[in-house]
Amino acid sequence: MSSVPRARVLLNTPQIELWPADLLRARGNRDARLLARATWVLRRKRDGRYLAAAVPDGLVTLLPGWQRDTCADAALDLLDAAASRALTPTAGLLPIEDLQARLDALGLDADTYAAKTGLPLVPEPAQLAFAGVDRYRRPLWLTRAAARAWTHLREAAQRDGVVLEAVSGYRSHDYQLGIVERKRARGLDLDAILAVNAAPGFSEHHAGTALDISTPGEPAAEASFEATPAFAWLQRNARQHGFAMSYPRDNPHGIVYEPWHWNHRGV
Ligand SMILES: [Zn+2]
Repeated sequence: MSSVPRARVLLNTPQIELWPADLLRARGNRDARLLARATWVLRRKRDGRYLAAAVPDGLVTLLPGWQRDTCADAALDLLDAAASRALTPTAGLLPIEDLQARLDALGLDADTYAAKTGLPLVPEPAQLAFAGVDRYRRPLWLTRAAARAWTHLREAAQRDGVVLEAVSGYRSHDYQLGIVERKRARGLDLDAILAVNAAPGFSEHHAGTALDISTPGEPAAEASFEATPAFAWLQRNARQHGFAMSYPRDNPHGIVYEPWHWNHRGV
């Protein structure tokens, strides 16, 4: 094994993410053996499947039948950059043309939706920082600034005897599109879906700045969170750490009250 410090970043491309291999769970014995030797794993955003693992002697396919296509080029270029240490931290954003085409295919007109809700289309960051694990022990990804602020927020809460847990952080366009596309395939009407799911592309979770927060014993993403000491603590203290509740009651976007959803906007 190399003594190179393990990367703690997620490298993002429009359709494929590069994950530090040690942060992924193996889905079988062969995967486990490969992941143990791998530095990076190419993971398809649409369905979370592991496509290939970068090991010292090259790239090994993990998904049988996966073909390297043009979508993989951007990911493979990043892999080369990472291997040659040419990778520099970036606060850059990915283009959103892919997203707009897929929204059109769903029958969702982005301009109309933006005008109706007052919400902007949110591009994805080109890199995300590891921000610890969420309540389900899954890696939590946020922008570098949001990850740092979340750590400080949790520590400050802990000092006051309050335990904050992340339920969800960064989510990709593809993840949110997948949810909507599967519901469409089951015959649900788009308006009915958008009444309960954020329109893909318009969620602050795509930016890596938003967190859904809970506390032990409390269900995820329920309005009952507002009655907890954790919520009271957030109301008093989140602002000084750069976090604000995005969707209070009667917000102008027409989004349901979400006391659990906090966005990092900087102090
Ligand atoms: Zn949220």
